[in-house]
Amino acid sequence: MASVFTKILRGEIHGEILYQDDLCAAIRDIQPQAPVHVLIFPKKEIRSVAQASAGDQEILGRLLLVAAQVARDLGISERGYRLVVNTGSDGGQTVSHLHVHLLAGRAMGLPLA
Ligand code: AMP
Repeated sequence: MASVFTKILRGEIHGEILYQDDLCAAIRDIQPQAPVHVLIFPKKEIRSVAQASAGDQEILGRLLLVAAQVARDLGISERGYRLVVNTGSDGGQTVSHLHVHLLAGRAMGLPLA
């Protein structure tokens, strides 16, 4: 079954698509944890970083480059942002389609909750 992110790209459910290219897309998170909260994900439904393989190298690199581009487009590049990749249940991953969280607009510390 298609993931919620794939369904948004297909127009099957509503979502705010900010960017897409041949490999990746970016959408607004529906439950923002910061003033800016964007999800960048590959069009290929890789379940998580743990399931990525050597053949996914270009996709994995593209995700970070797209995150940086979206940050520039949103005007948050200079002040900075946090990129998060939750992996598996202890990692807090709830959607089994690899994605990078782009969080910005407030100062963020460590440790995380
Ligand atoms: P994670 O917990 O790392 O797997 O992150 C999944 C993220 O997807 C969460 O921040 C959710 O708020 C977000 N999310 C779930 N459903 C949707 C949706 N329909 N549109 C946008 N974001 C979503």
